[in-house]
Amino acid sequence: MSQVFEFKIKEVLMNKLELPPFDRLVIRSMREHEALVNLDGHRLDPQGIVLITCADCDEFSDIYGHKAELFQSNGHAPRIHPLSRNGGALMLVPQSPAIKRGRSTATDLLEEIQEACAWKKIRTVTPYIHAPCGKAVVSKINFISQMTLLFQGKQLLKNRLPGISVACFCQIDYGNSKRTYFASREKYSSWLVECQKELEAATA
Ligand SMILES: [Zn+2]
Repeated sequence: MSQVFEFKIKEVLMNKLELPPFDRLVIRSMREHEALVNLDGHRLDPQGIVLITCADCDEFSDIYGHKAELFQSNGHAPRIHPLSRNGGALMLVPQSPAIKRGRSTATDLLEEIQEACAWKKIRTVTPYIHAPCGKAVVSKINFISQMTLLFQGKQLLKNRLPGISVACFCQIDYGNSKRTYFASREKYSSWLVECQKELEAATA
């Protein structure tokens, strides 16, 4: 392992557990706008889900456990097929800064998802981002860009897998609590428009 790589890893480990104050504000604003929605009572297709999530060992059990609880609370055995690479949904988009140029990571991941849906007769794919995420930090992807990549990944999945339902999620580790939210593409788009208007008004 090179010294540069070792340094980067240490840097992330030291910083990754803290959600930056700006991201906290952004997340709060997105929640107020319902771009991020609490998931109480959410229903899942009992046929199962393909879960696209970061492998982060401090967050995976919370992300997986949240979905498993939803299945159980609806009286179904959990049927969860996890495909977990570092970065999760950030790896679905070939142009993602999380993917090194010239690599086939996104294509390979999309192929694995397609295989899982076909082999296990699953009709729902659930891409996840989470914050703070070490992969996002080393790739210099801020939270807003994480959300953009999440929805770009959703579009790629819908193009590749017609007839498959794609529901996006976001898990936040606030330090003293962890929450999972549904991520709404429509509300996120209107949130961005509102931000643009406020910015223009502030700088007019
Ligand atoms: Zn992560």
